[in-house]
Amino acid sequence: MRLLQTSYDDRFPEIIKDWMSSISGNNTASLFHVYIPYDEEDLRNSLEEVRKILKENAPGIPVIGCSATGEILDGAMLDDELVVTLLIFEDPTTRIEVLPYYERPDDIDSQWLFEHLQAIPDLKGIEVLTAATYETLEAIGKVIDNLPEEIDVFGGVAVGDVNFPSFVFANDGKQSFDGSAVVFYSGPELHIQTDRMFGWKPIGYPFKVTKVQGPVVYELDEKPAYEVYNHYLHIKNDKNFFYNALEFPWEVRIDEETAYIRHAKSVNPDGSILMSSNIPEGSDVKITFGDPRRIIKHTKQVGDKIREFGPQVVNIVNCMGRKLFWAGKEKVEIKEISKHLMTTGFSALGEVMRYKGNTLLNNLSIVTVAMREGPIPEKIELDIDEIENKSNMSITARLAIFINTMTEELMEKNDQLNEMLYKASHDALTKLYNRGAIERIIYEGAEECDLIDKNWHLIMFDIDDFKQINDQHGHSEGDNILKTIARTLDEYIKTLDAVEIGRWGGEEFMVYARGYDDEKVKEIADTILLKIRNEAFHVCKVTASVGVTRHRKDEDVLGTINRVDELLYEAKANGKDQFCTDL
Ligand code: GH3
Ligand code: MG
Ligand code: MG
Repeated sequence: MRLLQTSYDDRFPEIIKDWMSSISGNNTASLFHVYIPYDEEDLRNSLEEVRKILKENAPGIPVIGCSATGEILDGAMLDDELVVTLLIFEDPTTRIEVLPYYERPDDIDSQWLFEHLQAIPDLKGIEVLTAATYETLEAIGKVIDNLPEEIDVFGGVAVGDVNFPSFVFANDGKQSFDGSAVVFYSGPELHIQTDRMFGWKPIGYPFKVTKVQGPVVYELDEKPAYEVYNHYLHIKNDKNFFYNALEFPWEVRIDEETAYIRHAKSVNPDGSILMSSNIPEGSDVKITFGDPRRIIKHTKQVGDKIREFGPQVVNIVNCMGRKLFWAGKEKVEIKEISKHLMTTGFSALGEVMRYKGNTLLNNLSIVTVAMREGPIPEKIELDIDEIENKSNMSITARLAIFINTMTEELMEKNDQLNEMLYKASHDALTKLYNRGAIERIIYEGAEECDLIDKNWHLIMFDIDDFKQINDQHGHSEGDNILKTIARTLDEYIKTLDAVEIGRWGGEEFMVYARGYDDEKVKEIADTILLKIRNEAFHVCKVTASVGVTRHRKDEDVLGTINRVDELLYEAKANGKDQFCTDL
């Protein structure tokens, strides 16, 4: 496999003619890629001419392209150059197919696409160039992710802004401003390895994304998202927000193995943040920071992994945000990857890659697509730089380790504390509040109710003939019955506002209800009776006796407790399985 590449100038027609004569007689597959600087009016306009020249001189060779920023030619990052590359496969079994592209998510016939992909023998890779909404990419990803995990997916999001909209095109199709172009690479001798580079280092504890709509994050841990930048980083919402925030993007964790990076673009007046791409609700995000040394180290490592694969060609999709982060020094990174390799590619608004079977849209990453036909060459001559082992860690890197270690220890202590608090206030068998906790709830509640002149009720119940149940069926069966009753009633009580339940003692329970009228409380007591009576225990029928009363203005809390206890025993005396009340 070979790669020919050029930028567009007056000699372009000649160059294409030369290329074509160099492959005349070949009947192997080939493919043109065209990358156009998105904000260069002249070059945008010359696209038509470029496509005409390709069509005249190279009929039948598929073409795919998009708007970009920073085009990579022979391992160098260029600005404002229209770049054309020709990928020439040498093995006659390697095949390329460019699909007419999708304009909208509902253009995608998932069934057809899936069957079509399944029918391609030795499908190795799928390239997606998209100017589309996230939804189209997601819809394509959904189909692709049903394919075996070894099939690689890669590509990028075309670059654009309000003045110069992003676009893609494929073959003879018109320029599409919302489309997605797709290429399938297949063949028994074709090998593809995709890798991605981040280098961003997560710090601190994770925040939960509690409110989000597409790329707009409203809340982290139920607080306005911007607060994270303001509170922890002192990044103000001013004209430098984008650049300041770029140094602290977010790692979005989807599951244990899958994460990607998103960066903030701007802050809305309501404190929500427009992020670089969609973020799923409920995901955990951590602030990360970009330490150039660490990033370069990661780049070197991935670069070496690529070289071990022995690629003949490497396609690079670099993030535009990363380009801005490096502010002119991004060439260092591209140079590092390109050492000893034939590379091309472009800087995109987002990088597409399939990771552990999931097609992901990354930001602030570099996705590399290494391709090779045939086996790994026997001997690869490399003069790979040794990554320095001696201690030369930067102060920022050490501080990050300090923060992370401390955070982990604090989080562990916090977990222990929460567990202790839980144990101190909950009953081990039933998981309900214990006597102390429910008493506290009643006493504190009573005090508040006094102040705001609100009424409150107690419902107390005791299982009937529980001694007998224990005697007949064993103590552990008795325990199970208590647990089941507690779970059922806890679920029910949770559906009620300002009602709490606790275990008062052995098989006695107390319910505290605040702000209800007498009729409603009697209804609750009746429901409790009914739920216990109707719970199907396989050993025996279980019932309870219940007392119900309201706190009287002139009595103390203990008075109310004593009265509900008396009412409960009245219910026992009256024949059990009923409630007794003075209301
Ligand atoms: P009644 O309330 O209907 O008058 O009769 P009873 O048999 O339920 O009366 P009593 O309150 O005297 O007995 C309660 C029994 O509950 C005694 C005790 O062994 C049992 N018990 C208390 N706590 C537990 C527990 O955690 N597990 C089990 N299995 N039994 C318990
Ligand atoms: Mg009892
Ligand atoms: Mg009892």
